[in-house]
Amino acid sequence: MAEARIIDGVALGRRIKEEAARHVRALGAEGVRVSLDAVMVGDPEAGEIYARSQRKKCQDVGIEYRLHSLSGDAKEADIRGLLRELNDDRSVTGIVLNLPLPRDVDTHAMQYCIDPYKDVEGVNPSNIGLLLYGGPIIAPCTALAVMATLKEAGVNPRGLDAVVVGQGSIVGKPLSLFLLHEMATVTCCHIATRDLCEHTRRADLLIAAVGKPDLIRAPDVKPGAIVVDVGISTLISRKGERRIVGDVAFDEVKEIASVITPVPGGVGPVTVAILLRSAAEAARKQLAEPRRLEA
Ligand code: NAD
Repeated sequence: MAEARIIDGVALGRRIKEEAARHVRALGAEGVRVSLDAVMVGDPEAGEIYARSQRKKCQDVGIEYRLHSLSGDAKEADIRGLLRELNDDRSVTGIVLNLPLPRDVDTHAMQYCIDPYKDVEGVNPSNIGLLLYGGPIIAPCTALAVMATLKEAGVNPRGLDAVVVGQGSIVGKPLSLFLLHEMATVTCCHIATRDLCEHTRRADLLIAAVGKPDLIRAPDVKPGAIVVDVGISTLISRKGERRIVGDVAFDEVKEIASVITPVPGGVGPVTVAILLRSAAEAARKQLAEPRRLEA
């Protein structure tokens, strides 16, 4: 059997970024500046490194980036207060709340405080809930990135047996709903699934979103399957070299699959680009008044 077609997420991400830049320019011509305001709690050093990379990505497409740092002992009331300020500030068009938050902070409750129209990561429960009807204001970036990757690969999920491994709130669950809307027959597996391979082996479309290297090996994959690897893990060799890997044993599975995404260079860069495009789309949606929680 021929080797799988490898989907180039970097190239797709670049095209989506160009689309985002066009949106941002069009909004600029109408007098609207697109912003991304990031809220980060704790570890200022890691926060600064992350912010530098986020700022650069935003600048590339003309989005203004601002970082709001709170100390690691911030309470829910502090985070809520800051998010409300950003919600009320009309110069802020997009908000991201960087995770993880301190252990005693209720993450979902904090995500609930983000204005659903500024929630560029699609994590507010209103946006997550609207997914059930197929039309959130803004959908979770990574799930959107997988759908964009499938489109790039020319895959129509209709009628396919789709197996999603991982039922996390920002990838596995929303993705399962997207695929269901696209009329795939969806199985969502997780840590308590009995005999995972029994499910993965019959998948026409197999998506792994777990964070466990080599979870999916060649014998777990149906010949000719479409395999999308969302997982990200960092392996450190004895020499201290770091390597990013996915959930799929790429070298062996590419001999069996018909289409596969690599890690790095697959879904990751598409997700980053989608976030920027969602930021532009969010600013556009905020222009419409009155704002309503509808698709
Ligand atoms: P999560 O912790 O919310 O969910 C992980 C899921 O994996 C859970 O549903 C758990 O039940 C399941 N799981 C754990 N061990 C398992 C096993 N042995 N067999 C089957 N299922 C198992 O994580 P998440 O936020 O959904 O992220 C999942 C992965 O995707 C992580 O590696 C994360 O880094 C990566 N991720 C990648 C991108 C990207 O842009 N590529 C974006 C977000 C997350």
